[in-house]
This record gives sequence, structure tokens and C-alpha cells, in this order.
Amino acid sequence: MVSQGKGGGGSRNLTVKLRTAKGRKVGSTRWLQRQLNDPYVEEAKRRGYRSRAAFKLTEIDDRYRFLKPGMIVLDLGAAPGGWSQIAAELVGSAEGRGQVLAVDLSPIEPLPGVEVLTQDVSAEDAPAAIRAALKGGRADVVLSDMAAPATGHRSTDHLRVVALVEAALDLAEDVLKPGGTFLAKVFQGGAGGELVARLKRSFAKVHHVKPKASRKESPEVYVLATGFRGGA
Ligand code: SAM
Repeated sequence: MVSQGKGGGGSRNLTVKLRTAKGRKVGSTRWLQRQLNDPYVEEAKRRGYRSRAAFKLTEIDDRYRFLKPGMIVLDLGAAPGGWSQIAAELVGSAEGRGQVLAVDLSPIEPLPGVEVLTQDVSAEDAPAAIRAALKGGRADVVLSDMAAPATGHRSTDHLRVVALVEAALDLAEDVLKPGGTFLAKVFQGGAGGELVARLKRSFAKVHHVKPKASRKESPEVYVLATGFRGGA
């Protein structure tokens, strides 16, 4: 995992400070400064991962071990592809074992062991298109790191988050095999009472996870639901 330790003298430990250049907003300067000083960004680049988000999935899987060789994984909101890269490594899809199907509104550049479907998950034709692309029409694991761009309007953003999680869960309930796993980004407040109650009805266990690689100031949290009760 990525070390965040101080001292030691590697370039990783140097803090880059930026002045607000003319024409650059304070917010974007802060974003750039955070990127430049983020050990996960540097490590993702070094290992050839498409996103720092790759470390969140690695961390959650290190703890709960739900991604196994030969599994079929559906990755919703997969662009640019960090989670799919991790899933492909763990199931062995580049060596012909299992399958990783990456779905996103945005196109994803080809990745070894990853099949791509450019698709809006909330669209009416999504379930049929996804089932058709999955081997045997079923999955062992459904991942969703989906997030819609924030509008800044709190209740609109909240409704969008809930709608995306519900769309992911609808798909998971449609394609998961018995005993399957569902992991989704929910944001604080996103996994409200109703969603948790639904997850508890459909799965044997429900955990809330905040991986270290998730920025402390970010409201994102993940729900991990294991032991799907349906799908027979
Ligand atoms: N897990 C990814 C990785 O490791 O590279 C990062 C995912 S990014 C935080 C969220 C993604 O959700 C975006 O690429 C966005 O296009 C996608 N998304 C949002 N709404 C979607 C929808 N309705 N259907 C499909 N993808 C969606």
C-alpha cells in the first residue's frame, strides 16, 4: 500500500506549494496542489494504474477478499479504468480466467483483460445490454464507483447520488449469482435507511467502508454487501 510517512528523503515526501497564478482560480490551485502532493496519485502513475481510485478497491479487497480468480465482475462507472485494472489482476481475466466488464457513459481506452461497454447505466436498455455482454448473463461481483458531476445544489446532488446507487443495485439484483457481492460508492447520506434496509433484505451482510485512499475531506463512503440471497 502507499506509504504516507514523513522523512526518508524520497521525492514523495517533498511538499509542492503553488502560488495562485493569474487566471487560475483558488479552487483549481488547491486541486492541483493536492494532486501534486498526493502519494496515491504518484504511486498510481508508477504502477501504471489509470486512477488513484485503484487503491481504494485494493484496500477494500485486501480487507474482505471478495475478488477471486475466475470470477465474473461487472464494474459500473468504470472510466478511466483503475478499478477494472485491479479486478482484472485479481480474477486473472488477461490470462483467460473469468471476465471483467467495464461500463461507463464515457469511453474507456482498451485495457488487458477488460471488456468495455459504453452505456448509461440508468438507460432503459442498460439491463439487457449488460446481461448480453456478461458471460452466461450473470456476475459474481458488481462494483459501482459511479458519481455524477456535482451541481452544488445539495438536494439535487443528493437525489442524483441516490438514483445512481439504486440503478447499480437494480442491476446487481438482476445479474448477481447466489452468494454474490455488491460494492458501491454511496456518499454520506446516500446510504440512508431505505437503501440499507433493501441491502439487508437482499444480502446476508452489509458493511460500510471508508478506505484510507479515500480523501478524508471527501464525503464518499462505500457499502459492501455480501452473500446475495437472490439469483437462484
Ligand atoms: N472507478 C473508476 C476508476 O477507478 O478509474 C473511477 C470512476 S469515476 C469516480 C465515476 C464514473 O461514473 C465516471 O467515469 C462517470 O462517467 C461514471 N458515471 C456517472 N454516471 C453514470 C451513468 N449513469 N452510467 C454510467 N456511468 C456513469
